[in-house]
Amino acid sequence: MKISSLIFPLFVAMFIVATAQAGSTGQPFYGDVPDATHPWCVHDWNRPQPPRVEPKPLTDAPPPADAVVLFDGTEASLANWEADKPQSEPTKWVLKEGALLCVPKSGFVRTKSKFGDCQLHIEWSAPMPPQGESQGRGNSGIFLEGIVECQVLDNYDNPTYADGFACSIYGVCPPLANALRPPGEWQQIDITFRRPVYAGNKLVHPGYETVYCNGILVQDKTQLEGGTGHMGRSRPGPLPETGPLKLQDHGNPVRFRNIWYRPLPPRVAADDEGIHGPMSEQAAAAKRKEIAVMVRDAAAKLPAGSLDQSLRLAESLVYEKDEAVAKSVIALAAKTTANVKQLPSDKINSLKNETKRVWNAMQFLAKFKIIDPSEAAWTELDGIVKSQGWDKH
Ligand code: MG
Repeated sequence: MKISSLIFPLFVAMFIVATAQAGSTGQPFYGDVPDATHPWCVHDWNRPQPPRVEPKPLTDAPPPADAVVLFDGTEASLANWEADKPQSEPTKWVLKEGALLCVPKSGFVRTKSKFGDCQLHIEWSAPMPPQGESQGRGNSGIFLEGIVECQVLDNYDNPTYADGFACSIYGVCPPLANALRPPGEWQQIDITFRRPVYAGNKLVHPGYETVYCNGILVQDKTQLEGGTGHMGRSRPGPLPETGPLKLQDHGNPVRFRNIWYRPLPPRVAADDEGIHGPMSEQAAAAKRKEIAVMVRDAAAKLPAGSLDQSLRLAESLVYEKDEAVAKSVIALAAKTTANVKQLPSDKINSLKNETKRVWNAMQFLAKFKIIDPSEAAWTELDGIVKSQGWDKH
């Protein structure tokens, strides 16, 4: 026996082991190659399989009160959908036992309505018995804005390339876990979708998708660069403000049910950072001014000269400096002190509540140096309140 005839089977065996360790199937020399910021090929069979996590038991909950229901198992809700064709025409997908069933070769189905950033809930069930393997088993897709696919695939016991796994952002990012239920059971998918926000050609806020599969986090604010596609690298670029939700016909009779979404507030390029984190100084200053005006307007509606009005006005200082308001607050402290001082000691308690209200406000403003903590009107009021023990109870 020649050595080479020994080495070759050994090589094949090593290759099989390596493939098994990588845990995936598929073919090399396929999708787009790695680049400066993406170490894997698109649909890379060397990318590890998502670890198995057993999901919690299936529970049903009605949609939230403000949800837009796209499909609830009724004929009426089927009318929310149409074939994904250039001209509007009825879908050939059918209503079956309360589910929206993909009829192979009928094409994608899409919502008649269009929406953008959203919280989406959708449930799908892969055909039983399972047929095919890898991408051929229970394949469909949830396309946000008709462009970004959250993969639908029966991966319960079916390896495939990791970035094409169920709940992958297709061709972009594998799910953190395989939390699927067996085929034939319902998979509950919850998605937060935020499209990338551009100002002209400049990206001002990256898009992302967060996905839960059967209650388990599988995409953790995964960055979206652009649309998704087969074999091709997702290219950065703006997405439309809105688009239809599309479900894929990949030749498998996958069922869907309980489809609803809640639109999320649009993110404005100039100050949207405040939604999830600190704003720019300029945007924060503008927002503080806006809040101060709102608080002052609310104060103006209260009885003129009342303590309620004075304290509401004092509150506006938290958001914006205002010399006149600051002076009026100090005057209020001085007046409160004077009122207490003019009463005989056995009557002082009658002023406890309103004095404490002023003291509380002043204490807060002094603590944060919104008024000068050494301001005489404040220190005198503070002294009186403490001498009465009102600061304790
Ligand atoms: Mg698909």
